[in-house]
Amino acid sequence: MTATAISLPVPQVPARRAQVRTEPLQDIPVSGHKRVLLAAPRGYCAGVDRAVVAVEKALERYGSPVYVRKQIVHNIHVVTELEAMGAIFVEEVDEVPEGAHVVFSAHGVSPAVVNAAADRGLQAIDATCPLVTKVHREAVRFARDDRHILLIGHAGHEEVEGTAGEAPDHVTIVNSPEEADTIEVADPSRVVWLSQTTLSVDETMETVRRLRVRFPELQDPPSDDICYATQNRQVAIKKVAKDADLVIVVGSANSSNSVRLVEVALEHGAKAAYRVDYADEVRQEWLDGVETVGVTSGASVPEVLVQEVLEALSGAGYRDVEQVRTAEEDLMFSLPKELRQDINGQKTERALGGRIRS
Ligand code: SF4
Repeated sequence: MTATAISLPVPQVPARRAQVRTEPLQDIPVSGHKRVLLAAPRGYCAGVDRAVVAVEKALERYGSPVYVRKQIVHNIHVVTELEAMGAIFVEEVDEVPEGAHVVFSAHGVSPAVVNAAADRGLQAIDATCPLVTKVHREAVRFARDDRHILLIGHAGHEEVEGTAGEAPDHVTIVNSPEEADTIEVADPSRVVWLSQTTLSVDETMETVRRLRVRFPELQDPPSDDICYATQNRQVAIKKVAKDADLVIVVGSANSSNSVRLVEVALEHGAKAAYRVDYADEVRQEWLDGVETVGVTSGASVPEVLVQEVLEALSGAGYRDVEQVRTAEEDLMFSLPKELRQDINGQKTERALGGRIRS
């Protein structure tokens, strides 16, 4: 059986987005005390930080242009800033001039893409998050054991395409709990599940539960595929959401983990929840009668964008900001091997580029 091609729409991000609000938010009185609950952890994860720094270091080392296959991370602001520094984003490696440098995004690539880049003589720098690479390795190993992999994730998402591409004859993609009720496999005694790293933990567990009803011999992966950053951000927003009249998630439309944060907030008590790329997308009417605003951001979002949302909210009277922290994070990944030394052979500093960790 081959990887299924079920079409779940993956939102496309416009090259530039339109500004939504031109006037500052108004400070309109509400019956109680206005406040913000700021979720932590939020924003940049270790894999995103590594990928963005990899492009920056590649530009420093090789000069502009450096090509990047797909958005390096799913955030319009990050992509726009890197473009301004000289990165050129392409959809496929056949758009890259022969012999040029190309960076593979944090979401990972299939072996077919790696081979296509090699065939063009491209100098590839692999910024795939190590936690995505871990899932690739699991897929390869299970396929070698002739297991059939039920890959829980969104068909069409780059990460799922990359993982499925490791063993296309051994993978069936399961998009949702409902789909778990209907998929078929050739040998139900040899099935194992894996997942995309950025899913809702609760929904994924529901999908697994339903798969196990159908396939009692379903094998679990050796460790969680939903990564620490996705899980931590969901735990934090659950705690915030139960006390929030409104939750604002900063993140782009094609950021899976950002979209999941909106869903998780709504499922855990937020009266309303919206995703914005930028502060000027926060609408005045969202604040009608709102005392408590929860704020968080997806794993591909620089902290500066959250601070701009807090500034806009401050202008609307939400100046009391309380951080709600549910976990500490200090994980960092080393850069791709090509970038661990600078042009003079000196060890490259693993800088966070001035980004504030939350
Ligand atoms: S969200 Fe998780 S899997 Fe994705 S880049 Fe960040 S740490 Fe890696």
